[in-house]
Amino acid sequence: MHQLVFATNNAHKLRELGEILKGEYTLLGLNDISCSDEIPETGDTLEANASQKSFYIWDRFRIDCFSDDTGLEVTALNNEPGVRSARYAGEGRNSDDNVAKLLSELEGKENRSARFRCVISLIIRGNEYIFEGIVEGEILPERRGVAGFGYDPVFCPEGYTQSFAEMDAALKNSMSHRGRAVQKLVRFLQEEYPHLPDR
Ligand code: IMP
Repeated sequence: MHQLVFATNNAHKLRELGEILKGEYTLLGLNDISCSDEIPETGDTLEANASQKSFYIWDRFRIDCFSDDTGLEVTALNNEPGVRSARYAGEGRNSDDNVAKLLSELEGKENRSARFRCVISLIIRGNEYIFEGIVEGEILPERRGVAGFGYDPVFCPEGYTQSFAEMDAALKNSMSHRGRAVQKLVRFLQEEYPHLPDR
């Protein structure tokens, strides 16, 4: 099976995408290619960050790879935290702090609609391709569920009553921003690069 590197240090994401891609590609993490670098992420858009991370790996390892960048865009907060979702509560703070800040910013606000937007940059043989996945939903008034990561406990996708953190991985992946972006990536690879050589 063809190998693809997913340029992430996030074990949750690696597991999530390993599930989605299994049977099609062997997904490698940064550990698997002995890369322990802190990959820079200094862009001010999701697209710029995803691209920066992929090219970092391509430039050093010359291996087909992809990376993603996700933002939670909350309508009543002018689409904040967006590209700053990981650092919303400040540098060095964790997901729990980010969720607490989000809930406090939305206190008293009627419009709780939000979307996760994921951008994937894929590099095959040095050529870059961009894919986007979006899931619409709303921010719950309090945390619910323990699965997943990040903002999952407070995000309820449109048409469902559970938060992402109350869903099993397969259900979340079937509709999530990252799941949708990855499905586009897989379809693209099947159509455009059906005969990638094994490495
Ligand atoms: P990243 O740039 O993709 O690492 O994500 C930025 C921020 O969004 C991080 O704080 C993540 O915790 C959060 N995030 C990314 N994907 C998800 C998800 O699927 N569920 C909940 N939070 C997420």
